[in-house]
Amino acid sequence: MESALTARDRVGVQDFVLLENYNSEAAFIENLRRRFGENLIYTYIGSVLVSVNPYKELEIYSKQQMDRYRGVSFYEISPHIYAVSDNTYRAMRTERKDQCILISGESGAGKTEASKKILLYYAVTCPTNDHMAALGDRLLQSNPVLEAFGNAKTLRNDNSSRFGKYMDVQFDFRGAPVGGHILNYLLEKSRVVHQNHGERNFHIFYQLLDGGDDNLLNTLDLERNPQNYHYLVKGNCPRLSSVSDKNNWKVVMKALPIIGFTEEEKLLNIIGSVLHLGNTQFGEGEEGETYITTETQINNIAKLLGVDGSALREALTHKKLTAKGEEMISPLNFEQAVSARDALAKAVYGRTFTWLVEKINHIMLWGLLDIYGFEVLQHNSFEQFCINYCNEKLQQLFIELTLRSEQEEYETEGIAWETVQYFDNKIICDLIEEKHKGIISILDEECLRPGETCDVSFLEKLEDTLGGHPHFVTHKLANGKTRRVMSREEFRLLHYAGEVNYNAATQFKNSLMKLMEILMSKEPSYVRCIKPNDAKQPGRFDEVLVRHQVKYLGLMENLRVRRAGFAYRRRFEAFLQRYKPLCPETWPNWHGRLADGVLTLVNHLGYKAEEYKLGRSKIFIRFPKTLFTTEDALEAK
Ligand code: ADP
Ligand code: MG
Repeated sequence: MESALTARDRVGVQDFVLLENYNSEAAFIENLRRRFGENLIYTYIGSVLVSVNPYKELEIYSKQQMDRYRGVSFYEISPHIYAVSDNTYRAMRTERKDQCILISGESGAGKTEASKKILLYYAVTCPTNDHMAALGDRLLQSNPVLEAFGNAKTLRNDNSSRFGKYMDVQFDFRGAPVGGHILNYLLEKSRVVHQNHGERNFHIFYQLLDGGDDNLLNTLDLERNPQNYHYLVKGNCPRLSSVSDKNNWKVVMKALPIIGFTEEEKLLNIIGSVLHLGNTQFGEGEEGETYITTETQINNIAKLLGVDGSALREALTHKKLTAKGEEMISPLNFEQAVSARDALAKAVYGRTFTWLVEKINHIMLWGLLDIYGFEVLQHNSFEQFCINYCNEKLQQLFIELTLRSEQEEYETEGIAWETVQYFDNKIICDLIEEKHKGIISILDEECLRPGETCDVSFLEKLEDTLGGHPHFVTHKLANGKTRRVMSREEFRLLHYAGEVNYNAATQFKNSLMKLMEILMSKEPSYVRCIKPNDAKQPGRFDEVLVRHQVKYLGLMENLRVRRAGFAYRRRFEAFLQRYKPLCPETWPNWHGRLADGVLTLVNHLGYKAEEYKLGRSKIFIRFPKTLFTTEDALEAK
């Protein structure tokens, strides 16, 4: 059997807990770098899997590899996403507890790929009959569809997920997948009408124009060239070298019926209508009234959405107010009409996406969470606030649960708990979510009050309430004592991952709270993804970039918690099995109590009392060195 511990000089250690100097960030990163250089992209921190995006296809995902990981425990074999998949699955079956796998990391780090590998593992290895196989197929086929509508090219990732996705897969008593559910949240709707330089709108628009046949484009009144559509040119980047829109179009069209989606025509009509909305232009009359100058577009939209043309025209140029029970119609000015148009496009697209996910839910089948990672842009608006808050909560959950499970293990094994020093980001979560005095509460209140402009009073209220908070800064509060210039409309949060300035912004949804509740009710496993370079290239390991991610993923914190007392632990049987050749009394077989066998073995090996402890079912070893010495002795034999 391949040993978990051999060849450690060349390829590093496969579990960070085995690092001699576990407090050293430099040693941590060196270990990652070494392994990455050997195409070993996976490393553990205990049972947490750290993954570094290789940016190239590795031959490690085959059926044969899957078979290697079935029923095998973490320590026996090199780290792999399949090991996490398999262990989660087995824990579900043997402990009969709901499981979830939390995947985090920044954009482009490999989260979505990881979730796909997990699904693939289950689809291939779980027991099935024909009906189940079809279900597994649907599960896999839902991916390209969701990606077409919910992913886009960004500067960081050519296929970036622009929505959060939580997937539940249900299994029957035999462990076969029987159904599931996707919770989608925070779709980045603003992308429908605007893209930053070098970025694109959602893939589906380009796929349709590139891959749709002439007939279809005729019906939708669309031209093939994306340059003709305002909503597709904001980022000045209609084509991608790494992605074939035409091929992906075929994949999506083939997948739709397999996942049981039959209303393809409606779907495409809506997508077409969004493009026409983007090309709808307005003129300004002498009295400041706004009118539509592009009648063809209005007719197309009306036809494609099946709505009345004049009602649409009216809706895009007027607003309806209700005052004292009376309805009043008043004209919109030019800017208002433009934003009404964009708001309509965003709403139509957003609801279409939700509709699509609901359809998939009807037919689908573990908690698998794939979110977009901590995000710091030039301008950070409400969307970034939500994303980063979500990451902040996940980090809290992570710390809380790792500490808890560590403490629980010590308790079950009857070993005294030792206190751990770590940074608890609860203070930041409270700052955001506390009732009555957190940012969200204040935001909700301000946005309910009519009349005044939200932004300035919102910011003042924040300053009043949160003035002295160590993680909250504004222009006024900073008083010139800040490294980066802040404008008067911004506030800054000091997240666990770093500082972010936000523009003051909109109503908050409770979907995150719901998600947290779901996650808290399950037994979590973690995959932490790291992006090795910004150029999306294989073989490049940018230390500065990696160090930053190690910091904000809280990996050193995690390692400290895990190493608080003991670097290494193993069940008595496994420990005896491996090392019994080293002691004449345990070789070839020990017939007494397991604990006595382990004690006899370690006494023979000369372990000192402070180097280890025996729990009820496991041996705990304090320093990696002890274990390495034993391992070397075994190899020398
Ligand atoms: P994220 O979801 O974290 O934003 P993705 O999972 O979309 O990132 O990964 C970005 C790109 O990196 C993928 O399109 C793929 O090219 C590459 N990639 C990620 N993980 C792997 C992997 N395990 N093996 C090969 N390539 C990968
Ligand atoms: Mg993704």
